[in-house]
Amino acid sequence: KHFPVKEPLLKKLITKERKYVHAVNDISFTILEGQTLGLVGESGSGKTTTGRLVLRLIEPTSGSIKYNGIELTTLDKESLRRLRKEIQVIFQDPLASLNPYMKIGEAIKHPLDIHNIGSKQERYERVLDMLKRVNLEPAEDFYRRYPRELSGGQRQRVVIARALITHPKFVVADEAVAMLDVSVRSQLLDLMLKLKEEFNLTYLFITHDLATTKYICDRIAVMYLGKIIEIGSFEEIYTNPAHPYTKALISAVPEPDPDIKKEKIIPSGEVPNPVELPSGCYFHPRCPYAMDICKKEMPEEVMLSDTRTVRCHLYSQ
Ligand code: SF4
Repeated sequence: KHFPVKEPLLKKLITKERKYVHAVNDISFTILEGQTLGLVGESGSGKTTTGRLVLRLIEPTSGSIKYNGIELTTLDKESLRRLRKEIQVIFQDPLASLNPYMKIGEAIKHPLDIHNIGSKQERYERVLDMLKRVNLEPAEDFYRRYPRELSGGQRQRVVIARALITHPKFVVADEAVAMLDVSVRSQLLDLMLKLKEEFNLTYLFITHDLATTKYICDRIAVMYLGKIIEIGSFEEIYTNPAHPYTKALISAVPEPDPDIKKEKIIPSGEVPNPVELPSGCYFHPRCPYAMDICKKEMPEEVMLSDTRTVRCHLYSQ
């Protein structure tokens, strides 16, 4: 049940330097209700484009995106608008996503106004309740403040409150804690986890930082140059990564326990230019295990367990 039925694979082509680039290159994954899937990769891996496709902020070149059995790619505007209250997003930069001239309470209330949910009094009370749930108290005081009067962590709490005010079922969090200090980051991750339980949320958690998935993700998909190269449960990926690129990412995660020593694997070179993709396995120019076949053939997906697949010739046999 962890693997998608054979829907058309998701693809997004964009143009760069007057050439087509596969920003998202025939990918497929499933997120189970109530779980969190971490979508991990370096800049340019296609993870943010995937999130925007799932939210239907951009159109796919081809493929299928299903939400509770509803095909999103062909949904008309009105049905999509109604569905918006169930599917919300938390972006990286709270300053960019909050109107500096709108009071915090009004900003959080705005989605209720758009979707015409509740009476005036009910909306006000719902905002106060949400401010308390994200630990912005006294709530009446925070309702009247402006974004500039808040710290970065408090502003991101406002963005989270606004995303959850319509009681969505599915939330895409795109680098939601990336701009915060490490100490504030863990508080925000704790908060997201608490709210997940309270509202029975399902998250797509997009991040370049594998360390943050430790707190929140049930499953992890690793992307590299538009492809998912490994997907599995958090335990499988974290304790026994299979793909050489995943191994390198895991080896770079700082270990808080100084007694635990682990080999640090550093892939050579930079991420290749997506305009000039390498032949065969896209990771071969940087891979310490590359073989002749790796330069010639793109590896197929191989199932390693009921919950895990990897795309690497080391496992093809
Ligand atoms: Fe490395 Fe080859 Fe596996 Fe690619 S297919 S990750 S180059 S071993």
